[in-house]
Amino acid sequence: MIVMSDARVIVVGGGPAGLAIAGLLALEGVDTMLVAPPPVSFDPRTIALMQPALRLLQRLGVWPEALSASSSPLRHLSIRDETGNLFSAPALTFSASELGLESFGWNIPLADMVPRLVEAAQRLGARLLEGEVAAVEHGHHQATVVLVDGRRFTAPLLVAADGQNSVLRGAAGIDADRWSFDQAALVANFRHSGPHGDCSTERHRIGGPLTTVPLPGRHSSLVWMASPDRIERILENPSALASEIQLGTHGELGLVSDVTPPRSFAMRGLTARRFAASRTMLVGEAAHAFPPIGAQGLNMSLRDAGHVADVVMGHDDPGSEAALGDYHGRRVIDVNERQAAISLVNKSLIADLLPLHLLRAGGLSLIAAFPPLRNLVMRHGLAPDANLPFAMRA
Ligand SMILES: Cc1cc2nc3c(=O)[nH]c(=O)nc-3n(C[C@H](O)[C@H](O)[C@H](O)COP(=O)(O)OP(=O)(O)OC[C@H]3O[C@@H](n4cnc5c(N)ncnc54)[C@H](O)[C@@H]3O)c2cc1C
Repeated sequence: MIVMSDARVIVVGGGPAGLAIAGLLALEGVDTMLVAPPPVSFDPRTIALMQPALRLLQRLGVWPEALSASSSPLRHLSIRDETGNLFSAPALTFSASELGLESFGWNIPLADMVPRLVEAAQRLGARLLEGEVAAVEHGHHQATVVLVDGRRFTAPLLVAADGQNSVLRGAAGIDADRWSFDQAALVANFRHSGPHGDCSTERHRIGGPLTTVPLPGRHSSLVWMASPDRIERILENPSALASEIQLGTHGELGLVSDVTPPRSFAMRGLTARRFAASRTMLVGEAAHAFPPIGAQGLNMSLRDAGHVADVVMGHDDPGSEAALGDYHGRRVIDVNERQAAISLVNKSLIADLLPLHLLRAGGLSLIAAFPPLRNLVMRHGLAPDANLPFAMRA
């Protein structure tokens, strides 16, 4: 039976996850359409991407040439326990050279990355369409997205890259477990008089971590997680932020100045109960969202992207039950393991529970004390040891 479609795959959502998938599929010669509304505002976040994710960007032709000038290598990663709890962990610093690498990855401004991904997707042949999906109709052989303006497009496979409040996830009948943390993350970039030494430092404090990540020259980005009240007070008086960063980093970066206007992000967690159903695969924050600890979010979303491409190439009907089961099986362990680890660290900083403090401090002390465990953690932090998608393999 011949079924007419508008594309082999329709990707919905124009964030970094959706754009990367559209580019990868187009690179493989798959007829791909991407539907997304135009971006609404400037996003000040910078994203620490590890080597496997950079290899994927390289395949798309956006790394290193187009992005490295505004980005900075991450040669060292440091974790400091500044909770002052009864059980505290020793300071931990990992160096990429311990794994024989030049750097663990690079810190890249999202506002630079997204336009380069748009260009790449178009250059590789994906069709980018401005629009917003209002509803989905599921047929036996294909699914149809219905846009707010009434246009309709049909394909054997839909990829839901439409963020945390995904319309496609709901339409596919997939439930999600959600958490709301009593936290917000404040993001800004700043200048400092001392060197950062290409080191990203995550300071574990009561209420949430304060993380500085290197940018070119004497600049760094800040991700500061704390109670919404605390963040709100800073947003009301942004001129106090330079001295807050100065205090929070104990002056280790020298004199802090030129802080960009801060922006806050509410902290919510989400994991879909399945990663594929009803001719729909979930990727990025439509599938999983968690607090920015350990720089995992987009790294994991790009692994989703790579696996979607592999599954589409491996099945005659990319939306068949076999293909959907294949994709779910490839993603479930990676996502659930990382979600659990990050939630544990985060809860141990928010909740005043001795067993959780003990668990976090004990875990970090063990990593500090045993070199093989340290090595394992570094490798696993970059990506899962096995089962990397083709686009991320060395
Ligand atoms: C403070 C902070 C710091 C972070 N730092 C890091 C880091 O260092 N490293 C890391 O790996 N990750 C990090 N992350 C996570 C990373 O930013 C996210 O994982 C990533 O931006 C999410 O991308 P996405 O494409 O899944 O979703 P989004 O960027 O939310 O994109 C969703 C897209 O879907 C579109 N859309 C929504 N609804 C519809 C609809 N109905 N129809 C059509 N289109 C629709 C939207 O317009 C948008 O284009 C951080 C997150 C935060 C909050």
